[in-house]
Amino acid sequence: MKRIPASWLTSFAYCEYQVYLEHCRGAVPRPKPETPETEAARASLDAVYEVAAKLELGVDDAMAKARDEGIAVSARGVSVEGAEVEGCIDEVVFMPDRVLVIDDRPGDMGWPGSRMQVWGYCVAFEEQYSPALPIMAGIRSQETGFEVWAQSFTPAHREEVREAVSRIRQLIDGEAVPVATRNRRKCQACRLAPCCDVRAA
Ligand code: SF4
Repeated sequence: MKRIPASWLTSFAYCEYQVYLEHCRGAVPRPKPETPETEAARASLDAVYEVAAKLELGVDDAMAKARDEGIAVSARGVSVEGAEVEGCIDEVVFMPDRVLVIDDRPGDMGWPGSRMQVWGYCVAFEEQYSPALPIMAGIRSQETGFEVWAQSFTPAHREEVREAVSRIRQLIDGEAVPVATRNRRKCQACRLAPCCDVRAA
């Protein structure tokens, strides 16, 4: 069974009609306008990641080092494949008492869709690596590098992801009728608004 990219969870949490439009009907989203600030922030993060990727350890080595030496060790650009969800985590920090799964996002808010995506990463990471330590999810601002949200990963989050993935599968297989948001503000900001036939006016 094909895995669902964790990024689809963001769309799903925003409006499940987005998932239907993009992945069932093949709609193409409009590109997001990039401001000079976000462009500069992305470029500087990319440069940091490129250097860090050469210096930092893979997941297994980082996990062993953190455990053996009792220190915090990070791994960047960690690809994960769970039973149903896959993706690439911006950074995983291994601490002596927990594992922190971090997603870098524009802005300074941990929106529900962004959180859902990080829970998806946590599920996939847990299934692939079976860490002996508790997992925490975090969202970090791409512009400032500061953490804007963090929460412990629990069985309830695992279940939330499982239910979302199940619903997404129904939507893309045409087994469920997609429900569109009635929130006008969401529709105004929606990247698929130009090709949406049910958007709220
Ligand atoms: S325009 Fe509105 S209803 Fe249509 S996909 Fe976007 S958010 Fe959903």
